[in-house]
Amino acid sequence: MDATANLEGAFPRDLQEIATTRPIYKGSSPYKKKKQPDKQYSESVVFLDFSSIFSTFGYTNPALRHVWFVKDICGIVCAVFTWLLILYAEYVVMFVMLIHESSNIYSFIHGLIFNSLAFLAISSHLRAMFTDPGAVPKGNATKEGIESLGLKKGEVVYKCPKCISIKPDRAHHCSVCQRCIRKMDHHCPWVNNCVGENNQKYFVLFTMYICLISVHALYMAVTHFIFCVGKDWKACSGMSPPATTIFLIFLIFEGMLFGIFTGIMFGTQMSAVCTDETGIEQLKKEERERRSRWLSIKGVFGHPFSIHWFSPFSTPRFLTSEKIYYSV
Ligand SMILES: [Zn+2]
Ligand SMILES: [Zn+2]
Repeated sequence: MDATANLEGAFPRDLQEIATTRPIYKGSSPYKKKKQPDKQYSESVVFLDFSSIFSTFGYTNPALRHVWFVKDICGIVCAVFTWLLILYAEYVVMFVMLIHESSNIYSFIHGLIFNSLAFLAISSHLRAMFTDPGAVPKGNATKEGIESLGLKKGEVVYKCPKCISIKPDRAHHCSVCQRCIRKMDHHCPWVNNCVGENNQKYFVLFTMYICLISVHALYMAVTHFIFCVGKDWKACSGMSPPATTIFLIFLIFEGMLFGIFTGIMFGTQMSAVCTDETGIEQLKKEERERRSRWLSIKGVFGHPFSIHWFSPFSTPRFLTSEKIYYSV
């Protein structure tokens, strides 16, 4: 189907040329569907603006004043499951292993490392989940909206036929969020959100901290298992040997599974950041000009390099500008 054919009647003839949709668009006209209530137009995201509350306390960082939440039941279940897995590891590490270790220094150091990593992993998860990944305003591809761009003759804008938005370069439509997301990498059910321009840093940190916590838990579980066998299962745990064994085996299995999974995910994400290419662009083999590796990394984690790169609480400075937030 000719993409411009879908715009018949929606725009005057002179604007139809520039308000072209992606050529791959197929199906009946979204404008016809708009007349009758359709599922694809229902709002799938909750966007809360706490600006007025925050400004009364003099807080000026706009990045933390908005809450974005995707109403996807599969994603919510996966996100809660992630927290439960971390809680399980926390319980086994603290109450099955460390509390019964013979050395207090060993227990204190490993307890501190594990809890710090768990805290950073959960914080990164929450920020990746509740941060607007870079949503494009919905329904702004109107005649006025396109005219306001002040396009010169021959310039083309892409328009998303699903959310009727002007599609910026590198933006892609997410069918779960039902929005176009700038620099969309993929929609991750584990964080119940898209990974895009604004929250990629938190997602990368989440995969990194989960990988580290998994490797650490794996090390402690194997060490404790050997310790228990050496002590003939006496005074190495407050539970019976079979119960301790089951708890440790589940933790070793969890650590191996998620250590490998998040390790691969972290590697893939870092490679995407270094090559300045999102997962979707890699799949589609889209050709475009790339930024240098260092510039691309700074584009995700912030400028200049500092300890803040590893903190899920620090928002890259370029994201604290009001300009990047849109009214929904
Ligand atoms: Zn869209
Ligand atoms: Zn999405």
